[in-house]
Amino acid sequence: MQAPILVLLCCSLLLLLTGAMLVRRGRGKWREAGLPRGKVVYDDTGAWQECPTPLFSRGHLLAGKPDYIVARGEYLIPVEVKPGRTAARPYPSDILQLAAYCLLVEENYDRVPPYGILKYQAATFPVEYTPQLRRQLFATMERMRSDLLREEVAPNHHNPRRCGACGHRDHCQARLRQGDQESPTLGSP
Ligand code: SF4
Repeated sequence: MQAPILVLLCCSLLLLLTGAMLVRRGRGKWREAGLPRGKVVYDDTGAWQECPTPLFSRGHLLAGKPDYIVARGEYLIPVEVKPGRTAARPYPSDILQLAAYCLLVEENYDRVPPYGILKYQAATFPVEYTPQLRRQLFATMERMRSDLLREEVAPNHHNPRRCGACGHRDHCQARLRQGDQESPTLGSP
């Protein structure tokens, strides 16, 4: 075989191998993120595109950045990844966060997502965006806004571990200490 042909063959083989490696790496990242099949149209992690601006709803005075939005057919599905979470079912606070992203997708793209996805360390949870969840989100936002006007607000949990990891623990009067009794709350699955 002539030398130029051999060089050409080697280059083609190298290109093929590099391409296969990139595809494999891309699929791995895709699986890790728990993304459904589709096209990533919004990526706040910088893995597939530059970090975008936050989504904003003027009507509900709400802003936020889902980790991803994936286009599946006519739908846009928000995906939130919590790599450190391990739980058998989603935390209610995470469900509400995802519902807020569904609302932002609805307002910004004029398309109602039928569901969003929560990805924990070892499990992926599709969460249906129902009218009931939407109502629950509005009620929670209203409560949070009225709490902002109050001078004192009691914690919404009784979880000393949460206080132990909280950045406000040094100046928070309501903080719980190790040994205080723990009980299930909004932040528990
Ligand atoms: S330290 Fe205070 S602000 Fe932080 S989690 Fe505990 S109660 Fe909430």
